[in-house]
Amino acid sequence: MRLILLGAPGSGKGTLGAMIERAYGFPRISTGDLLRRAVREGTPLGRQAEGIMARGGLVPDEVVTAIVRERIAEPDCRAGYILDGYPRTIAQAEALAVIDGGRREIVLSFEVSVESLVERLSGRIVCPACGAIYHLTRKPPAKPDLCDVCGAALQARKDDAAEIVRERIRVYESATAPLKAFYRERSDFRPVDGEGAADEVFVRTAALLDGELRRAEGGPVR
Ligand code: ADP
Ligand code: ZN
Repeated sequence: MRLILLGAPGSGKGTLGAMIERAYGFPRISTGDLLRRAVREGTPLGRQAEGIMARGGLVPDEVVTAIVRERIAEPDCRAGYILDGYPRTIAQAEALAVIDGGRREIVLSFEVSVESLVERLSGRIVCPACGAIYHLTRKPPAKPDLCDVCGAALQARKDDAAEIVRERIRVYESATAPLKAFYRERSDFRPVDGEGAADEVFVRTAALLDGELRRAEGGPVR
């Protein structure tokens, strides 16, 4: 089993991915988080990705696919995993089918209006240490600017600046949105209404997933 989370920047796939991980026990693999860590650590990969990410562009398909291939080979992924931010192009989707084909695949597509995307991203603050996601008004941390989970100082992501957000949404529309048609034909493609609070979206998502997993395995899974 693998779960693919599709959605524009700000659609909530990172937040929902973390909630699904906690509730269902599948590890969440976020290529954005893996790339940001490589940038922070200054690895060769990180140096290659840094400028591209700062501009809101896409890191080359082969580079991201190599990261994902390595990660999904780890033992905790054997029973299933959640992909957040990958695939992001048709070429990546085709590569995924090659590096790990034959797996049951459920694609959740979080649908959110552009106005909501911009509103969410403009108030977003994140934990650079553990990846937890907050929002200045929608989900403020208990202590200002400190992560509830690990206590690290929270930051805005550099690529959440308004003009970079516009570029990321443009890149999403042109490179990633076509994946919806791709998966509608090939997999269990399920659109999810992503408007509203994360808890509400999670309730909708879990209802959908429970049905899918029961259908797949002939019994309740949670
Ligand atoms: P968001 O979905 O909010 O834009 P992510 O954390 O998923 O944020 O990604 C941040 C950046 O990392 C992207 O703008 C892109 O530069 C890079 N990136 C992440 N995943 C991929 C991918 N699958 N292919 C290419 N670039 C990626
Ligand atoms: Zn943290």
